[in-house]
Amino acid sequence: MSNSKDAANVVILGSGPAGYTAAIYASRAGLKPVLYQGGQPGGQLTITNDVENYPGYPDGINGPQMMVDFQKQAERFGTDIRYGLATSVDFSKKPFKITIDEKDEVLAHSVIISTGASAKWLGLESEQRLNGRGVSACAVCDGFFFRGKDVVVIGGGDTAAEEATYLSKLCSHVHMLVRRDELRASKIMQKRVFNAPNVTVHWNTSAVEVLGDDEVEGVKVINNQTKELSEIKVQGFFVAIGHQPNTDIFKGYLDMDDNGYIKTVPGSTYTNIEGVFASGDAQDHIYRQAVTAAGTGCMAALDAERWLTAQELV
Ligand code: NDP
Repeated sequence: MSNSKDAANVVILGSGPAGYTAAIYASRAGLKPVLYQGGQPGGQLTITNDVENYPGYPDGINGPQMMVDFQKQAERFGTDIRYGLATSVDFSKKPFKITIDEKDEVLAHSVIISTGASAKWLGLESEQRLNGRGVSACAVCDGFFFRGKDVVVIGGGDTAAEEATYLSKLCSHVHMLVRRDELRASKIMQKRVFNAPNVTVHWNTSAVEVLGDDEVEGVKVINNQTKELSEIKVQGFFVAIGHQPNTDIFKGYLDMDDNGYIKTVPGSTYTNIEGVFASGDAQDHIYRQAVTAAGTGCMAALDAERWLTAQELV
């Protein structure tokens, strides 16, 4: 361990609510954490509109603003916040080695993973081909380009309901394609969808192809019960079918479930590797809320601090 003295006490990967909360706790504990922001600084909340369910904001708060505030709070206590995406790790020996942007190597006595999750796609060839030319996974980012136009939203969860409601205020018509005969979305979000006069919910309906050569011109859909095919003319195609955890670089080291969520020891953020802790959506497929992510970020910092102390590394 000749280079062990060059290692950071704790390296935090990710800059959503989990990462920044871990940073606030770790820096206040005097651990001098280094935080790499990852490919989407601020995480998923930066592509959200109003956050209405984070306690402490009775009037709601704009998602990107909330993440600026999280960052400021982490900086206030001295977190070393750096741009950069962890592209590979070596957890086979200590100190751990993390490669940033495929070139810079960083050593760490402990690691807090808060790499979050990313939007899922349907996997259609036409969806990939027209991505950025009418196909999007973020209404708040791209809805502006579809003012006065017709769009589809794929999915039946809270994300899809939120996207459909948001787009209904900009677009002339929103077609929501739901593969089953019910929405998974919470009742309050469902109510907003049903109350929007220009949203049509197409039950038991799936997209089979996005139509158009250079830009989206429509969508070919199938009725999952009758198998009947039809077309809907739209200019925008918004996919809102959930998320997958950003955990690929940890495969082979960390125990994960079938969907790639990191397994933690119940009631803690311990992974199967001592000194590596996991928080936020990278390890949570059940709750996936900003407030639960922040909670597990706090737990990860406390777990790391206690572990480092027990190892006499701090
Ligand atoms: P969910 O996993 O909850 O919902 C995904 C939706 O997409 C389901 O309706 C699912 O259908 C559908 N779906 C999945 N795969 C396909 C496919 N291949 N083709 C067609 N449809 C598909 O994900 P969300 O992102 O909506 O929500 C994630 C979490 O975040 C939830 O806990 C949610 O409550 C929370 N959230 C809260 C918000 C808020 O409170 N403001 C806003 C956004 C999210 P099926 O039901 O048939 O499986």
